[in-house]
Amino acid sequence: DMAEADDESFALQLILPEGGKTAPCCPHGPTLLFEKVSKRGERGRRFYACSACRDRKDCNFFQWEDEKVSEARLLAREVKNQSKRPLLSQEEYHTRFTTFISLPLDEKKFCQDCQILLLPGEREAHASHRSTDVSAAQLRRPSALLRPLDNKKSNAQYLFTDRSSHFLLDTLSALGYTKLLCVGTPRLQELIKLRNLEQKHKPMKSLLLDIDFRYAQFYSQDEFCHYNMFNHHFFGGEVGILQAFLTECDEEKVVMVADPPFGGLVKALANSFCLISRMWRKLQSSDGSNADMPMMWIFPYFFEPRILECLPSFSMLDYQVGYDNHPLYKHGKTGRKQSPVRLFTNISPKDIILPKEEGYRFCSVCERDVWCLNKHCAKCNVCPSKDGREWKHCSACQKCVKPSWRHCHSCGRCALPDHPCGLSQGKEGCFNCGSLQHKRKACIQSCVVYVYGDDGRNIDSS
Ligand code: SAH
Ligand code: ZN
Ligand code: ZN
Ligand code: ZN
Ligand code: ZN
Repeated sequence: DMAEADDESFALQLILPEGGKTAPCCPHGPTLLFEKVSKRGERGRRFYACSACRDRKDCNFFQWEDEKVSEARLLAREVKNQSKRPLLSQEEYHTRFTTFISLPLDEKKFCQDCQILLLPGEREAHASHRSTDVSAAQLRRPSALLRPLDNKKSNAQYLFTDRSSHFLLDTLSALGYTKLLCVGTPRLQELIKLRNLEQKHKPMKSLLLDIDFRYAQFYSQDEFCHYNMFNHHFFGGEVGILQAFLTECDEEKVVMVADPPFGGLVKALANSFCLISRMWRKLQSSDGSNADMPMMWIFPYFFEPRILECLPSFSMLDYQVGYDNHPLYKHGKTGRKQSPVRLFTNISPKDIILPKEEGYRFCSVCERDVWCLNKHCAKCNVCPSKDGREWKHCSACQKCVKPSWRHCHSCGRCALPDHPCGLSQGKEGCFNCGSLQHKRKACIQSCVVYVYGDDGRNIDSS
């Protein structure tokens, strides 16, 4: 049973879709094909499961690859998929929004229980619900008005601090980007619009692609698409909107910033981002023929090997992305814990200047900005730290290791002082989950259902 995937006995591998074969659909669009791989490398039967939900409670779609599905079941499935569609089209939502804006201030209400803007005729139906007034300023900050989703397994929403949002926009703007494709980054989209109003910054265009349809209420058709980033699916078929956005006219330059849920499958995300890049490439006039679309993917540092495996042209920057509503991961040397979330990008690291006043410095050997505690190691010839702590060189291992590790002579490598000694002889364990039963390559992260546990601890608990 896939959701109860027990990583002790097998791992799940994602099989990317090949041309021609169409996957069955769940309410979240085309499903993904998985294959069980046992400890001894035996391959199991393949099955389709939901691309977006990691918990069967959220979507229980399951179908063997070779399964014959009856007409009745197909029909029931279709009915279910239809019933999960948003009630209104993007166009209709936008018409409502236009009406809403023109209402007098004391008639602008937002239903907190239903998470919708209410038009005058609808207030009665929501009379028993909690509703609030909505100011013009609040209308421009939907991410502050909407309640962040907090489903830990599938879709928890962690919003950037103002500091990190402005850093991202200032950096991209300084690099000459004029169009920002916001994939799962609603806060960047709204900040761009706010900054455009202020007229202090170079104007930027933006398009938000997000699975959270509540955002549809605040944007026009060319500003928001209901989209699933795990299977590159447009729920309303609006792929043309993305194509128009990716087309660069005159001095326009497009860049993507994505901040996926941290439990998300790296391979599926990388595949979607490659499809976006390919679409962008096809749309540009012939000159830059095989260039890649500039992208930033925001994800925890411990996924670095996994991301670079899928996207070798990317590198990880030291910048620590700050979140408002993630209690444990506010930015800072002095404040609370440091954030484990980093920027992965195919933009050259030497072009990205990290804020000195927050503790970043330039390493002239590596030719990139690094965190102050990330000291250059002459033996490794890199600034080695991944987690923001000062790493130290172990001459026996011939590499830099985490400060909490000690060289263990019976294991022949560095490890935590209280590691299960001798057990790990010759075994590396899974980088993602630490399991000794499989290597990182076999891990689909299904074993990482919670990248962050309820107590806020991440899987890299060292
Ligand atoms: N830091 C960002 C928010 C990141 S939270 C900001 O401040 O703007 C993750 C975002 O990805 C949320 O907006 C969520 O709705 C969206 N998301 C989650 N699953 C998704 C999926 N399968 N496809 C597209 N977007 C998704
Ligand atoms: Zn209501
Ligand atoms: Zn260096
Ligand atoms: Zn060592
Ligand atoms: Zn694993």
